[in-house]
Amino acid sequence: MNAKNYKLFINGQWVVAEKDEELPSINPSTGEVIGTIAKAQGADANRAVQAAKAAFLSGVWSNLTTEERGQYLEKIAEAIRHHAKELAEIESADTGKTIKHTTFIDVPTCADTFAYFAKVHKELGDKKLAIGAPVESKICYDPIGVVAAIAAWNYPLIFFGWKVAPALIAGNTVVYKPSSAASLSVARIFEIIQGILPNGVLNLITGGKEAGEALAKSVDVDMLTFTGGTQTGQEIMRMASANTKKLCLELGGKSPNIVFADANLDAAIGGTLSGIFMNQGQMCVAGSRLLLEDKIYDEFIERLAKEAKRFKIGNALDYQTEFGPLINTAHRDSVLAYVEKGKKEGARLVCGGKIPDGAEYKNGAFIEPTIFADVKNSMTIAQEEIFGPVLSVIKFSGIEEAIKIANDSKYGLAAMVWTNDKAKAELVSSQLRCGTVWVNTYGGFYNEAPFGGYKQSGFGRELGLEGLLEYAQAKHVCIDKTPGGISLASSWF
Ligand code: NAD
Repeated sequence: MNAKNYKLFINGQWVVAEKDEELPSINPSTGEVIGTIAKAQGADANRAVQAAKAAFLSGVWSNLTTEERGQYLEKIAEAIRHHAKELAEIESADTGKTIKHTTFIDVPTCADTFAYFAKVHKELGDKKLAIGAPVESKICYDPIGVVAAIAAWNYPLIFFGWKVAPALIAGNTVVYKPSSAASLSVARIFEIIQGILPNGVLNLITGGKEAGEALAKSVDVDMLTFTGGTQTGQEIMRMASANTKKLCLELGGKSPNIVFADANLDAAIGGTLSGIFMNQGQMCVAGSRLLLEDKIYDEFIERLAKEAKRFKIGNALDYQTEFGPLINTAHRDSVLAYVEKGKKEGARLVCGGKIPDGAEYKNGAFIEPTIFADVKNSMTIAQEEIFGPVLSVIKFSGIEEAIKIANDSKYGLAAMVWTNDKAKAELVSSQLRCGTVWVNTYGGFYNEAPFGGYKQSGFGRELGLEGLLEYAQAKHVCIDKTPGGISLASSWF
């Protein structure tokens, strides 16, 4: 892969950042620099916002019908599919996500989300209301205006689809800011789709906190959709109050994965491994707390560790690799520090917990899949989001205790329940305080189904009708139909 240097994309042009500074993009499998991105400052972010605002006010996008906008989205989906292999390779090189993962999940999901939202005409159409008064009443779904989107580094392509497709179909214009730790795939998409949309409708700002803060503070940004850490989300809420902009916050998680003794244990083992070790555990919905019923506790841990130890760890671009590196060495060190905390607080390290042995791991950001047993839910490794491949196993006895431990967290993003007892699954699902519950499965995201958090995992939804309507505002239009044409309001005085 040739190294690529990306500028900012504002108003249909690639432009240099005001200070002309760059940030390196590093391949976490090898430590090599594979490209650079422009480091935008606040002034650059504001320039992009002004371009998006001008495009919005011009009506070049918002005045189109949903069907017309849908045709543009179809073209974007097609362009992404056409470059699927290249995009998967860029994503794997930039993030350390395995090529199997980027090929079969990230790229197709991104394209499918554009294709899905391209067809939601009915959902955004006017809705007539049946009202017990002499009026004709309807709801119209207007765009919100300029949407700024700020994303995390763990699923760059998927977040791009999840945020941009619904924002655009609803008639908004967008300023998109990926994470500075992983911007290459999204920057490449901007190149691929260049010329499809009218100028200013979709703009790219790369860089870190400075650019993000300017977007959060801007009084010309009408809505901000954010995916990232809970603490950053809280800062954004404070900054966004400048113009009471609408927020949608997708934040952290510490999701419980509850396995009952009556479950299909083979399925539960497989699902548990995916739940904590896919993308090296760098998933907001990682099942990082494994709650095991006492009757199966020892056997399950033994089987799980045996599987985790046989993973082929390696370069993310190698098709044989099952487990790649973390996003960068700084993040790996933060995960290793949590491992030390776990040991200190008395959890039993069953496997992993260190950088794998071997010269091939020396320059990358690798860490072994790690399992801690005998964890108490009050321990740091059970309460804080590690965002890496560290599983904390907690023993429980009976349904009530499982629910109590599962809900004992400041987060509420997702949960998994493994049981063959349907009534038990329904009871537990109904009691869990989180936005998604997977029963006897893990990680299914569907364009039709809303996704989002309870508690400090955030608010607002992505995907589904709920996610679409986040990007629209409901306008009530009420027309008098009083026989004779003199409504009550007209005859009040
Ligand atoms: P982060 O909060 O550090 O950064 C996220 C984004 O915010 C980046 O683009 C960053 O440049 C920007 N940013 C940082 N400081 C900012 C500020 N003060 N003002 C405005 N923007 C700012 O998060 P991260 O390390 O990139 O991602 C990991 C976190 O994201 C984890 O907590 C994870 O759970 C969360 N996440 C949540 C979901 C979800 O859907 N709920 C999905 C994926 C990741």
